[in-house]
Amino acid sequence: MLSDYKKLTLNSLTLYNIASRIMPYGVSSNYRYFEPYPLYLSRGKGSRVWDVDGNEYIDFNMAYGALGIGHSNPKLVKILKEKLENGTILGFEFADTLKLAKIIKSRFNVDMVRFSSTGTEATMHSIRIARAYTRKKKIIKFEGHYHGSHDQLLVNVSPEKNEVMKKSISSYGIPYDVVKNTLIAEWNNYESVEKLVKKEDVAAIIMEPIAMNMGLIKPDVSFLKGIFSLAKEYGFLIIFDEVKTGGKFYSGASGYYGLKPDLITLSKAIAGGLPLSVIAGKKEVMRVVGPNKTAHGGTFSANPLSVTASIVTLTQILTENSLYEAYKLNSMLSKGYQDFADDLDLDLTVSMWGTSGSIFFSKVLPKNYREFSEIDQRPWYKYFWLMLSNGIIPMADYDEQWTISTQHTKEDIMKHLEIAENILKKVKEE
Ligand code: PMP
Repeated sequence: MLSDYKKLTLNSLTLYNIASRIMPYGVSSNYRYFEPYPLYLSRGKGSRVWDVDGNEYIDFNMAYGALGIGHSNPKLVKILKEKLENGTILGFEFADTLKLAKIIKSRFNVDMVRFSSTGTEATMHSIRIARAYTRKKKIIKFEGHYHGSHDQLLVNVSPEKNEVMKKSISSYGIPYDVVKNTLIAEWNNYESVEKLVKKEDVAAIIMEPIAMNMGLIKPDVSFLKGIFSLAKEYGFLIIFDEVKTGGKFYSGASGYYGLKPDLITLSKAIAGGLPLSVIAGKKEVMRVVGPNKTAHGGTFSANPLSVTASIVTLTQILTENSLYEAYKLNSMLSKGYQDFADDLDLDLTVSMWGTSGSIFFSKVLPKNYREFSEIDQRPWYKYFWLMLSNGIIPMADYDEQWTISTQHTKEDIMKHLEIAENILKKVKEE
């Protein structure tokens, strides 16, 4: 299994050996590293990417969901080439940003918008804004949810099994003092939230409204609605981190569930693969932001290329129709896996939402991180290496999910399923 991957990726190994001497683990983001060594890619087009050994892959990782519009989308390429002539960054505010703010306001049902560059920045600012507005300190996050690489929310992201529900810092270099106001609740467990808000003076709860960093785990609707009732009763804000979900359903998870959180964050797919993020929400909350009030800054915030890319992406490419088409392909892929699970009598479950889905090598779908962490990941890795060796990047890791872009075709899905069926048989035989 691994030997096939190694045979096909000799140049990646060579690059890794060189890169790891000048870049820790040879990568620019810890999430790009996987055993035995990461893949180094050279280009992407449509639904495909090519690695430095010349292998072609049908890509279902799609830059961790940042490419809902697929690689090098022709509409985006055309407009970016034109815009490049007019400056990459202007320093003062770029006029088109207002257009984009209006698009986001109506599409995601928010009142006011600020832009940053990454998901990490957006969630970092969102909790600051929530604290400034409520004048309270405590933030609740869910175990297994990921909100980026800043200190205060790097808690219980992927704790060891025996650390579940104990506060566990997810990185070296973060003193306990920094996370002492971060509280941990359990996904799909209403009582775990209720207990905290009854006891503590909570500023906000932040969540991935569809959890997408422990596979894909949807919330029970009653659980979500229950949190909104608690927020009313106890006076804390709700932040939907829609960095992933915002690009996978036309109006994000808040639109899907018909809920209006106080704040949302967006990033990844909204700018077609260029760096852009959004912190947006209710007027009264967003109004705390400003000079000598609540800090929000960024030299690269809303740079013209990202803003232009986002306008084109949201108005011409990630339209309701194209997302629906991608959703149909996603249903086909998910059903295919479900059929394999039944026909091959595998311990395999499938979870899907919008244009994303994930598989778990388990008999039942996990409902929270505790259940997710109990799943044996070894079959997943066998599946992953074999899929790679057969020209499919199914997703980036066992805690990730696939993304169907607007450039995937029915043929791509059929190819994926044909290869997956053979591989799942092999994984079962092992
Ligand atoms: N929030 C969520 C839900 C994410 O999945 C991620 C990244 N995977 C982030 C925030 C952080 O985004 P970025 O990597 O752009 O900082």
